[in-house]
Amino acid sequence: MGKSSKDKRDAYYRLAKEQGWRARSAFKLLQLDEEFNLFENVTRVVDLCAAPGSWSQVLSRVLIKNEKFGRCAWEDREAKFRQRMLNAIPSESTDSQQQEERQDFEMTNSQDESSNRSDVKIVSIDLQPISPLPGVITLRADITHPATVPLLLKALDPSYDPEASANQQAQHPVDLVISDGAPDVTGLHDLDIYVQSQLLFAALNLALCVLKPGGKFVAKIFRGRNVDLLYAQLKVFFEKVYVAKPRSSRASSVEAFIVCINFQPPEGFKASLEEPLGVGSRLSELQQQQQDSICQSGPSKAGDDGITEVIPEDLSGSDNKYRWVAPFVACGDLSAFDSDASYKLAAGHISLPPVQPPTAPPYKRAIELRRQNGGAYGKPVVSK
Ligand code: SAM
Repeated sequence: MGKSSKDKRDAYYRLAKEQGWRARSAFKLLQLDEEFNLFENVTRVVDLCAAPGSWSQVLSRVLIKNEKFGRCAWEDREAKFRQRMLNAIPSESTDSQQQEERQDFEMTNSQDESSNRSDVKIVSIDLQPISPLPGVITLRADITHPATVPLLLKALDPSYDPEASANQQAQHPVDLVISDGAPDVTGLHDLDIYVQSQLLFAALNLALCVLKPGGKFVAKIFRGRNVDLLYAQLKVFFEKVYVAKPRSSRASSVEAFIVCINFQPPEGFKASLEEPLGVGSRLSELQQQQQDSICQSGPSKAGDDGITEVIPEDLSGSDNKYRWVAPFVACGDLSAFDSDASYKLAAGHISLPPVQPPTAPPYKRAIELRRQNGGAYGKPVVSK
């Protein structure tokens, strides 16, 4: 996909470059925050699967630099951008003008270093290296590997000693764990959903080791056939579980985000990476305990958020006691860009370069090899 055709197709892709975000995903987190107030009273955050780092940028700007990205701030920019793009004003915008606007956006509120908060801790992890960001500790690690937990605990608390501590719970637990993890999609639907769910369980296991009671967990999911089993499993640990679809996430994609609020580990529960959830029967045992306690105290269907749980007929039988349908929440204003639509570009539109080109993409070697071999169709055959 060429730069300019992608520009035309995807308004958020273009907007991200204008505003200096490393990826269009930044808008997903901003729209989720708009709906769920994710950053309220948050000082310690872990960002899993964070490269190239647009979510970490949001965290850094909102939590450390105290920037406001409420509707007024980023949508104001969006409105300006939309106006220009729809040719509502004659576009004399040149490449250098657009670059200036991007710089202007980056500089807004960030000039005054003295207002930076020092009590905030952000740790970001990815398999790929993440270019530095103000106030963000970055780790290059695999979130599915048990060795990543001590690394994370050490990053959160430098006095943490993995040798001395048999108990791997964090000393200073975190308020929010976010994960935008996605495997390299193969196109084989069931396989992609399976690999994605493994990443989600890895993220959840890490979150359970570091979250404080009352904490929040947000993670990308692919909505597959048995996603209601997953919602029910998350409900074992969190008071509220929602499935959210930000407007910047394409409606045509199976992608959504689970937003889990108020971490309430079951009584006696200890996170253990020797016995991770998602493997063996530990999770279903916990669910059984929860079911038993609900049976004793009687079911409650209406939440204090006014959202009533709906249990479809086919999920209400005893065979389906481990299923539960999470309330669905669409986030982002309806007037915001539609991520599936193509918008007309202003005359003379010049595509901006990426804010942060990939540092070490997994496809780099493949491209090198392809080039060596004369491109996509192989070395030209020279007839003698
Ligand atoms: N949230 C990021 C942002 O805003 O820039 C985008 C994340 S991108 C959609 C998904 C990331 O998941 C990729 O960078 C990939 O390297 C990472 N990832 C996939 N599997 C992983 C694993 N096992 N451990 C750590 N990161 C992983």
